[in-house]
Amino acid sequence: MTTDFLKILFLSTSVGQLGSGLGGGVELTVLNIAKELHRRGHKIAVVAPVGSVLESIPVIEIMGDLQVTAQTQDYNAAIVMPADSVLANMWEYARKVQDEWDVIVNFAYDWLPFYLTPFLRTPIAHLISMGSLSASLDRIAGQVAVEFPGTIGVHTASQAQTFAFAKECQLLGSGIDLSLYEFCSQPEPKLAWLGRIAPEKGLEDAVAAAKITGIPLKIMGKMQDEDYWQKICADWPDAPVEYLGFLTTSQMQEQVRQCRALLMTPRWVEAFGNVAIEALACGVPVITYERGGPAEIVRDGLTGFLVEPDSVNGLVGAIARLDQIDRSACRRQAEVEYSVGGLGDRCEHWFKSILKLS
Ligand code: UDP
Repeated sequence: MTTDFLKILFLSTSVGQLGSGLGGGVELTVLNIAKELHRRGHKIAVVAPVGSVLESIPVIEIMGDLQVTAQTQDYNAAIVMPADSVLANMWEYARKVQDEWDVIVNFAYDWLPFYLTPFLRTPIAHLISMGSLSASLDRIAGQVAVEFPGTIGVHTASQAQTFAFAKECQLLGSGIDLSLYEFCSQPEPKLAWLGRIAPEKGLEDAVAAAKITGIPLKIMGKMQDEDYWQKICADWPDAPVEYLGFLTTSQMQEQVRQCRALLMTPRWVEAFGNVAIEALACGVPVITYERGGPAEIVRDGLTGFLVEPDSVNGLVGAIARLDQIDRSACRRQAEVEYSVGGLGDRCEHWFKSILKLS
């Protein structure tokens, strides 16, 4: 093994193809870390469900049925796998080629990769992308944290605190390619909401705030739960909202940057919230609940507002104070704290520490 350039095999999420939006923020995280480490000269390949697309990085496409998402199951649910599981097939592939790689990086929020960790010769780094949602994952990841110290990465301290093994977690934050997000100093009188359309994202609160303030809300993101969306439309028939679909990063930032603020309304302890830093990169302040990852990102009164969790009135009050925010402070925060270079440094250091190279 050379100590400067590593051979790193990424195993993507098994709940959706890269590019589909079903994987949520993990898709952007995989892309950003892979591109940045590839740019630095490391050898990178990404293993992902068949049909995955990742610009400029080779994808090894694996057949099989997708895994069910953890957030749609009960905390105490048993582990369920489809008969022809893409997750199992991806790890079978990794087992076969493991000697060609220095480190394998797991991006799946699932029991199996943790369980398999002691069975492989090549070290595995696990980047956990959500807070605690499953007893089986909590238990097996806790065992890995003890047996393989330093191999579990998370995005924020609030996310780590949902796990009993919080102290063992490496804090990686997140980062984006800031050159892809254009700053906009003069927004239109509109608000934005970005994310998977699914109950844990609390979209109804943003729709309610749009209705109360009368400020139009642009909604962008993967339609993951159609029934949930239909219920919101039925409950708020005359709210000034517009659903633009699931957009590419380039299309999305073009829409978001013209908005006065991003409303982020998660019901759960959001592990990070990539959409927050994407909005900040465009100079768009973020109004969000004082809970989880977004509360660690937003500087209250400087780059957005933190309001009482689940309070629509809190959102409405913050919208009224948006004039206090200097949009260039938002862009500056993204540049200083959330560059893809910083994320690359932290990941590189993490992998080298696992390999005892630093
Ligand atoms: N996103 C997108 N197009 C859209 C709306 C959202 O590509 O129209 C992406 C966005 O860039 C972000 C992801 O969807 O990377 C949502 O990730 P986040 O971390 O905010 O939440 P998660 O889905 O992981 O819970």
